[in-house]
Amino acid sequence: MNLLHAKGIKRTYGSLEVLKGIDLEVKPGEVVAIVGPSGAGKSTFLHILGTLDRPEGGQVFIQDTNVFELKDKELARFRNEKIGFIFQFHNLLAEFTALENACMPGYINTNMRESEIVKRGKELLDLLGLSSRMDHLPSQLSGGEQQRVAVARALLNKPVVILADEPSGNLDSQSALDLHHLFFRLRDELGHTFVIVTHNEDLAEMADRRLVMQDGNMLS
Ligand code: ADP
Ligand code: MG
Repeated sequence: MNLLHAKGIKRTYGSLEVLKGIDLEVKPGEVVAIVGPSGAGKSTFLHILGTLDRPEGGQVFIQDTNVFELKDKELARFRNEKIGFIFQFHNLLAEFTALENACMPGYINTNMRESEIVKRGKELLDLLGLSSRMDHLPSQLSGGEQQRVAVARALLNKPVVILADEPSGNLDSQSALDLHHLFFRLRDELGHTFVIVTHNEDLAEMADRRLVMQDGNMLS
């Protein structure tokens, strides 16, 4: 059983073929790393897996949903509920606290009550070792702490898959290592599934599978 299945994904920008027909199957609880040179198409592919961008060819199934057959509104809801995103630059909102940032996906288009959202946000920040930082603004947190808030935010709606684009690219080596261990803990203890684009070879080696993208193709 695949949790995620991408088939023959193609994407062009003008005359540039960025993705030349990529396939990927991910099982529940897997941690898959994608490495490859800059410009290979990794971010473009991850955006398509996350339904943030549409391919010109191919299909993406998440659980049993053929995601690009959903109407825009349904797709937005699906994305918010089923997919967690972690980016290199955490994109936390500067004027909101750690807790408010972590809770943000709960306020968008879900049926969760405010009290449930806040409870879940606090539990996650606690789990990620940030219980004493809940009321801090992003500017009052270290890079590693900010990225853990972004992880809490990604987990808030209990997504079926978490997509990370160079999540530790902006961190010092110790914070990067801590973040990588955190991903595996979330997999081992909570069964989360990850697709991670990374330049970090240690992380790629720790993953269940290390895939290489080059020139719009998946080599392995
Ligand atoms: P990677 O993440 O592997 O470094 P990207 O997916 O970001 O690669 O980019 C792949 C190629 O697509 C690059 O040549 C890049 O310049 C091009 N590209 C990415 N986004 C756009 C865009 N919005 N418009 C035009 N070209 C783009
Ligand atoms: Mg990229």
